[in-house]
Amino acid sequence: MGIAASIVSAIGGVSASLEILNKLLSAHTSKEVADAVSDVQSKLITAHTVALALQEQVAEQAEEIRKLRETAAEKARYQLVEIIPGRGVFAYFYDGTPFKRAPRKPAVSEPPHYICQRCFNKGIKSVLQATSGRHGNLWHCTECGRYLPLGEWPRHTVEP
Ligand SMILES: [Zn+2]
Repeated sequence: MGIAASIVSAIGGVSASLEILNKLLSAHTSKEVADAVSDVQSKLITAHTVALALQEQVAEQAEEIRKLRETAAEKARYQLVEIIPGRGVFAYFYDGTPFKRAPRKPAVSEPPHYICQRCFNKGIKSVLQATSGRHGNLWHCTECGRYLPLGEWPRHTVEP
């Protein structure tokens, strides 16, 4: 149980105990004591509401951290390369090295491929598609519509 859930549970427990105590005391105590217990109960309800909101916020942040870690692991598989040396045209390249999608799952691999540098920097993974037209053979990003020269496959990898 996380800290936020523990706080929610503790407040709920105290609130329930206070309610029982209030019933036991109600027949034998003055109005001042009953009012004081009622005031504490009201404050506990407020604290409980705040703790529930905090618990929800913690869960959302944990999910955000999980997604960021997943994105970072995804980005680590790619290397920024110059498609044609000296031309200043870049793309991210995955060389086919096996990787794990989840800690306890077996490693998998994908065929070597380029992804669009411009789109990847915006958080979009768009695999470049080889195409040919009147300007020759090109890579095409179907996400942003960009065409890049085909060039050579990076030397340190196996031909696709
Ligand atoms: Zn693109």
